[in-house]
Amino acid sequence: MNSPVIIIGAGMAGLTIAEALRSEGFAGQVMLIGDEERSPYQRPPLSKGLLTGENTEAQLQMRTPEALEKKNIELITGVKVTTIDRASHRVHLDDGRSLEYGGLALATGSRNRPLPLPGVELDGVISLRTFDDAKRLIEGLKDAQSMVVVGGGFIGLEVAACANKMGKDVVILEAMDRLMARAVAPLVSEFYAGVHRSHGVRVELNAKVSELVGRDGHISAVRTADGKEYPADLLLVGIGVIPNDELAKAGGLECNHGIVVDACARTLDPAIVAAGDCTARRQADGALLRLESVQNALEQGKSAAAALMGKDRPFVAVPWFWSDQYDVKLQMVGLSAGYDQIVTRGSQAEQKFTVFYFRAGKLLCVDSINQPKIYMAVRKLLDKGGSPTPEQAADESFALETLLQS
Ligand SMILES: Cc1cc2nc3c(=O)[nH]c(=O)nc-3n(C[C@H](O)[C@H](O)[C@H](O)COP(=O)(O)OP(=O)(O)OC[C@H]3O[C@@H](n4cnc5c(N)ncnc54)[C@H](O)[C@@H]3O)c2cc1C
Repeated sequence: MNSPVIIIGAGMAGLTIAEALRSEGFAGQVMLIGDEERSPYQRPPLSKGLLTGENTEAQLQMRTPEALEKKNIELITGVKVTTIDRASHRVHLDDGRSLEYGGLALATGSRNRPLPLPGVELDGVISLRTFDDAKRLIEGLKDAQSMVVVGGGFIGLEVAACANKMGKDVVILEAMDRLMARAVAPLVSEFYAGVHRSHGVRVELNAKVSELVGRDGHISAVRTADGKEYPADLLLVGIGVIPNDELAKAGGLECNHGIVVDACARTLDPAIVAAGDCTARRQADGALLRLESVQNALEQGKSAAAALMGKDRPFVAVPWFWSDQYDVKLQMVGLSAGYDQIVTRGSQAEQKFTVFYFRAGKLLCVDSINQPKIYMAVRKLLDKGGSPTPEQAADESFALETLLQS
């Protein structure tokens, strides 16, 4: 492949592509361009340990600029790529530069879906994606007593748990009839609603936010369509993300709620790959899969670097994800879409249980709560294409690890 390789987006996927190019033996110029001012950092602690002080700012940084320099990776921060000109193999930057590429990697991530209501510009309304958002949230939490979280997905729930730990009065407003509805079965949603309520967090379901009320330019309350009003010194909006695929679309690449890539992270342009939150991966059955996770950024990043080197390294691992709320760790592996049977093992009362999702007797996915050993055994099993029977899954005396030996 011709030098240089330009990587757009200096998040987890972008960093992975840059470093994987080096471990694949690429000796040419690598430029990693990000529009945030900082060197690559981890986002998951932004809604977890960074808020409570369990993680420091320094712990979030994945690589210092010096560490990248040692690998001869040129990091350019605070600069946005504005256009891709595929005919001339050039990208244009918002600082006026125009750079020629031999290979191009898109790792532009996603951005938060905005709440479509007047008042989102009020002080104290925060949407959490970047380190700077987290800093604003931490500042806001210092003074706030009442916090409203709009959206009962992972990020909203994690922030709610942190704010509760910090002694704040927290209300979660979820528009659907259960929490984390896109990701988990109703029994897991109910379990989590119970966990939050047991800590004193108010969980309101079917609660559609209709109005943000401000006082002196600061959020003061939230109203819902049913006429209820919730006081709020601080409002966290966590209603999902939108993939950053506009740059690719304008460059003529196929996009469909994400930049369309194959299992090896290739676009239809042989010089261009894409990885991470910005992609929609074409699966064997033709359907497109969008994942927003650390694993996806890492695995697709490695595939993308290999593809630029002319190698096939398909991302075939089963998807996994985690969420930390209070002292409850949720670990998920697989995708539950299309399940027709659910089996549980363990005790909800003790907050240690696993939900197994089956289709036609074959395991698709598990949601494991505070049972890391079971989660790890199932993850290995699913990666091997194996499955327990529903009876084995439900039977506490059956060691799932034994299935790994066959
Ligand atoms: C608060 C929070 C908690 C999370 N918790 C978890 C978790 O517990 N487990 C888990 O698996 N995942 C979690 N995630 C998701 C995970 O962090 C993301 O899936 C992952 O960061 C995606 O990496 P990425 O590199 O694809 O995108 P990003 O991390 O979004 O990086 C993309 C970068 O590209 C930049 N960019 C975009 N366009 C341009 C341009 N034109 N020019 C230059 N730069 C550009 C963006 O500003 C951004 O810095 C969490 C995310 C958040 C926000």
